[in-house]
Amino acid sequence: MSRSGTLVALSPHLDDAVFSIGAFLHLEARRGTGVRVVTVFANDPAATGPAGSWDAMCGFASAGAAARARRTEDRRACAVIGAEPHWLAYGDESYGRPTDDDDVWRAIQGAVAGCSLLVVPGFPLRQADHAWLAELVLRRRTELPFALGFYAEQPYARAALARGQKALAPSRLEFERVPTAASDRLTKVRAAAQYRSQLRALGMSRLVRTFAEEWLRGGELLALPS
Ligand SMILES: [Zn+2]
Repeated sequence: MSRSGTLVALSPHLDDAVFSIGAFLHLEARRGTGVRVVTVFANDPAATGPAGSWDAMCGFASAGAAARARRTEDRRACAVIGAEPHWLAYGDESYGRPTDDDDVWRAIQGAVAGCSLLVVPGFPLRQADHAWLAELVLRRRTELPFALGFYAEQPYARAALARGQKALAPSRLEFERVPTAASDRLTKVRAAAQYRSQLRALGMSRLVRTFAEEWLRGGELLALPS
């Protein structure tokens, strides 16, 4: 992409973009591209209710405490990558996803304004929040005045591919492994380690296998416009 431009990665939750394409984002930042990670379901740090099912599994006592801690982790991870974090306070599915699509879309438009390339989740889209977000972006695609690409969501994509599923992008674009330097892939591992609260619940071995495979194959899976 143009080195003067801005790359925005749309992340459903606080960790998806870094787990999926942290090395690619670091490569772009290193080359002088402005990199922003916009997390849509970053939940509400001021919430006073109990933790949702996922946050409770991660050991959090309340919804607000989980949102605050997970944002701190995201801030650290983005700093390692060289990206600017941006959070939208929508609740994920465990808190009852927002029902007003137009409202979410307006917030996303504001957060991605001025970018030259937007990348969004594209495979396997089995997690409900991921699928909802990708569907929203595709439905409103014509309102985006810039290029749109997709990334394979990790560690889920690796598991789907291992089961024999073919990586298909929700458009005519094709997934390819985008080469990164060893230093980018190492930086990704350092950044991913910042999401301490998520590592156990997601499964350390799944993540390690995913990052090891990316290491051996030399990059991450993206479907980018030419
Ligand atoms: Zn997610």
